[in-house]
Amino acid sequence: MITVKNLSKHYGDLVVLKDINADIKKGEIISIIGPSGTGKSTFLRCLNLLETPTGGSINIEGVSLLDKGTNVSKIRQKMGMVFQSFNLYAHLTILENLTIGPVKLLKKKQEDADYKAMELLKLVGLAEKAYNFPDELSGGQKQRVAIARCLAMETNILLFDEPTSALDPTMISEVLAVIRRLAKENMTMMIVTHEMEFARSISSRVFYMDDGIIYEEGTPDQIFDNPQKEKTKAFIHRVRSMYYTIKSKDYDLYDLQAEIEIFCEKHVISAKVSDYTQLLSEEVIVMQKDFSNICLQLSYSEKDRSLELVCESSGEQLNPFENEDNEIGLKIIKAHCLSVDYIYANGKNIMTLKIKNEG
Ligand code: ADP
Ligand code: MG
Repeated sequence: MITVKNLSKHYGDLVVLKDINADIKKGEIISIIGPSGTGKSTFLRCLNLLETPTGGSINIEGVSLLDKGTNVSKIRQKMGMVFQSFNLYAHLTILENLTIGPVKLLKKKQEDADYKAMELLKLVGLAEKAYNFPDELSGGQKQRVAIARCLAMETNILLFDEPTSALDPTMISEVLAVIRRLAKENMTMMIVTHEMEFARSISSRVFYMDDGIIYEEGTPDQIFDNPQKEKTKAFIHRVRSMYYTIKSKDYDLYDLQAEIEIFCEKHVISAKVSDYTQLLSEEVIVMQKDFSNICLQLSYSEKDRSLELVCESSGEQLNPFENEDNEIGLKIIKAHCLSVDYIYANGKNIMTLKIKNEG
């Protein structure tokens, strides 16, 4: 359906896309992952000619996009793009947002366009918002409207550029659910995303982009469980951490808990796990003797979704397992952890909690 050969894009001296080659079949769902600044957005924008490629060729259903005689707007209509920021028309109702394209560009009758738009709003769960304005919707709802608007144009290829990255964590799943639903309807989709679990579960293939090329591609299992090349491995196995330092017994517990909450939201760790991670950090801190320099590190691994809390405090050795005062705290910790370890090394007490991260 889509064939890309030797695609390149330069901005002056800056080479963003070096040499992109890809073959995408009808109904395939391609996730594009990779560090930021590696040209993922530029690649999508070249595909629907929001950017003019510097070189190479793009074929869509047998039509060469870059040939002079090609009717670009017609091809672009086949490809809907959903952006990070929803790009709805603020002065039009939701229904009008969905019908303006079909009426003006596809020359549909207004009543037919209205009918189809209502069907699509039902599909994305927003029929009751048809007569509201974009401002009256949440971010997640706006993004679902943006998806419905693409479908209203009878597109058969959908391009998503980080569709959930401007959303509050609570709204991410409703948008992903709509995308999942479309995936079942044999839509061809290319999705730039940082939601690794989502990419893994929805994709037929994953492109890892780096260095202006598709550096490695494969099935989700290949890319996420068994990446072959250096940079892919580093990206997939990366671990995200937050650090928090405590300097006195009167530390600001609420501030610490807020930081943990934000960290968990950012990595789509459930509210339940977030809550007991906050509790566990409090329990661990209570067990310390010397409060002059406590360092907490909370790490999340993208690969296996594991969550680890490390608490380091300087001072004399304290074995938390041997202190009777800690009995209840340790019980709480053990209930929520896969393992708890303690060592004393280089003048530091180090407790490591592998926190259960389920659901
Ligand atoms: P990604 O989506 O992977 O984060 P982008 O495709 O947005 O990456 O950007 C890749 C590189 O191209 C970045 O270094 C960015 O600064 C540069 N870039 C993107 N658009 C333009 C532009 N219109 N003019 C100049 N440089 C650009
Ligand atoms: Mg981008």
